[in-house]
Amino acid sequence: MPELPEVETIARTLSPQILDRRILSLELLRKKTLQAGHAWLPRLQGARISRVHRRAKLLLLDLDLPPDAPLPRLCLLFHLKMTGSFFVHPAGAAALKHTRIIFDLDGSPGSRLFFDDIRTFGYCRIAPPESLPDWPFWKSLGPEPLLCPIPTLARRFLGRAAAIKAVLLNQTVIAGIGNIYADEALFQAGIHPATKASRLPFPALESLARSLQDILIRAIAQCGSSIRDYRDALGNAGAFQNTFAVYGRKGQACIRCGVPLLQTRIAGRTTVYCPRCQPETSA
Ligand SMILES: [Zn+2]
Repeated sequence: MPELPEVETIARTLSPQILDRRILSLELLRKKTLQAGHAWLPRLQGARISRVHRRAKLLLLDLDLPPDAPLPRLCLLFHLKMTGSFFVHPAGAAALKHTRIIFDLDGSPGSRLFFDDIRTFGYCRIAPPESLPDWPFWKSLGPEPLLCPIPTLARRFLGRAAAIKAVLLNQTVIAGIGNIYADEALFQAGIHPATKASRLPFPALESLARSLQDILIRAIAQCGSSIRDYRDALGNAGAFQNTFAVYGRKGQACIRCGVPLLQTRIAGRTTVYCPRCQPETSA
């Protein structure tokens, strides 16, 4: 599933291709992909894409509506889930097998923005931006890890009864982290993933917060991690998977100490760690 660095990369590669373009029409090829906001569909015609950005693992297109519209702005929100992806094709390009929504955009030549999704878990919502706080999922999201000062981030983890890995994955604690970056940050901070957060002293949590930010920044710089399907909005793979220390490396030698990495399951997710660099804490 695309995590924070992948969705950020998609936003950054998509933006120059569609910013300031107007939506001429929309083709909803799979009705269920539009999860909410059907009533706003007629309002998208003529809307100008004024910003392409990310919140948590959601990709957002802000739209300015024509002056005669009953409201000034709408927002298109996409959750890519397992296999959602975006690609800009030339005008006239035909839908692909897994294309779920097509936006025809103005310009000369015009172009078509495809939202493709093989597994169909991804979704789109249309909503006025001021209504977003009424969406329970949006309201539940924790802060952005890269916008939090280290002590603030560390305090989010403090005193929680769950395993620290489960805390990192909990989108209400912090937003945007999935299996890859949780495992990598825990390795970098030298923390055993099963350690209850409440047993970790504050400096260890600060070290984890620092590792997490460092990993995310480095992953974004390398355009995310491509395992299986992920591609950015230009069709390019990310490169961060080439520098994974633990994710997907079960049984291989730890890059730091050479001991074979172990695999376990935490919060229902496959978890890889180094038994020597990430000892079970007695703190
Ligand atoms: Zn090690």
